[in-house]
Amino acid sequence: MQILVLNCGSSSVKYHLFDMQTERDVAGGMVERIGEVGALAMHRWAGGSAREEVAAVGHRVVHGGERFVQAALITPQVEQSIEECAALAPLHNPHHLVGIRAARQFFPQVPHVAVFDTAFHQSMPERAFLYPLPYEFYQEQRIRRYGFHGTSHRYVAGRAARLLGRDQDDFTGITCHLGNGCSLAAIEEGRSVDTSMGLTPLEGLMMGTRSGDIDPAIIFHLAAQEKLTLPQIDQLLNSQSGLLGVSGVSNDLRQVQEAAAEGNHRAELALELYAYRVRKYIGAYLAVLGRAEAVVFTAGVGEHSSQMRRCILEPLASLGLVLDAERNRDGLAGEREISQPSSPIRLLVIPTNEELVIARDTRDILRSRASSSLLRSAHGR
Ligand code: ADP
Repeated sequence: MQILVLNCGSSSVKYHLFDMQTERDVAGGMVERIGEVGALAMHRWAGGSAREEVAAVGHRVVHGGERFVQAALITPQVEQSIEECAALAPLHNPHHLVGIRAARQFFPQVPHVAVFDTAFHQSMPERAFLYPLPYEFYQEQRIRRYGFHGTSHRYVAGRAARLLGRDQDDFTGITCHLGNGCSLAAIEEGRSVDTSMGLTPLEGLMMGTRSGDIDPAIIFHLAAQEKLTLPQIDQLLNSQSGLLGVSGVSNDLRQVQEAAAEGNHRAELALELYAYRVRKYIGAYLAVLGRAEAVVFTAGVGEHSSQMRRCILEPLASLGLVLDAERNRDGLAGEREISQPSSPIRLLVIPTNEELVIARDTRDILRSRASSSLLRSAHGR
């Protein structure tokens, strides 16, 4: 069975084709800078001649609001709910809908499934997801914390459980997704109980171009004193802050590290701030959970930057997170442990695979549809 996974953004479309017998990603590619000069398309085909029909299409959808706690077969009602969530994710959901509608025209006979970035965090308790605003804003506007990167946190938590010799759904610890966007999740027995992103992906850690947590009064100050408009402040906090804003060099960690190595003080500061804020959240989530079996690092920075992992973790040895310099070294790939054998809390690097999770969720929905239609026909209905 082959499943197509689609990720449609504002200016790019990414796709992967999975052979679900082997769970191998047999083809994929992307179209970038859509609608701009220099638009680019790339396609990769792993070879093989057997060309099966696509059995189903899995779509990544950023915001599922409170309605979706897991993946859903796309029906007209589900499409409408995704549209209703667009107010919460105006930069994402409308583009996903365009992708869903186009794919349904192209593959009208097969089921389409939506897999939501927010769904995994719907298990957060009220004390974690509510903002201390007047309660009516939650009741009437659904202003609350949702969290993102859920597919990634779920995948690495499941793999961590396996590496620790447990069932996939039995992980208690902290997962750190450190890419261009960054978030941490506190996971108790396989369920997300807190995460650092909020109503939007702007809350929490310092990121490539996003500020993460700031005093909201800064916004009033910028409006009153600097006469910035709300769209300008939005742009400032989402696109001109974080690693880029502090360093003045780049949103790309590698370039900031290179500048710091050459003695650029702002680049050094940016790295220090970034590590400090991840460390603060790890400390907070140790307190939230009360215990942790492991802390997991994933995504571009988490998987590849031994230097950043060291900056984050070294001061935490006395709290039971004891990094092993040799195991943490650069140049290693794949799932691995980077703590010393005696470390009370284990430290793991696990490459994420959000596309595979989307393909698996899509397959599972396909199977449950097939078994319920079998049941119906067995009962003569
Ligand atoms: P996205 O969130 O866009 O999927 P990624 O997960 O690919 O992003 O992460 C991108 C970040 O990972 C960039 O800041 C990049 O500099 C960083 N990164 C990737 N490889 C390395 C590396 N070898 N060393 C340091 N940073 C790296």
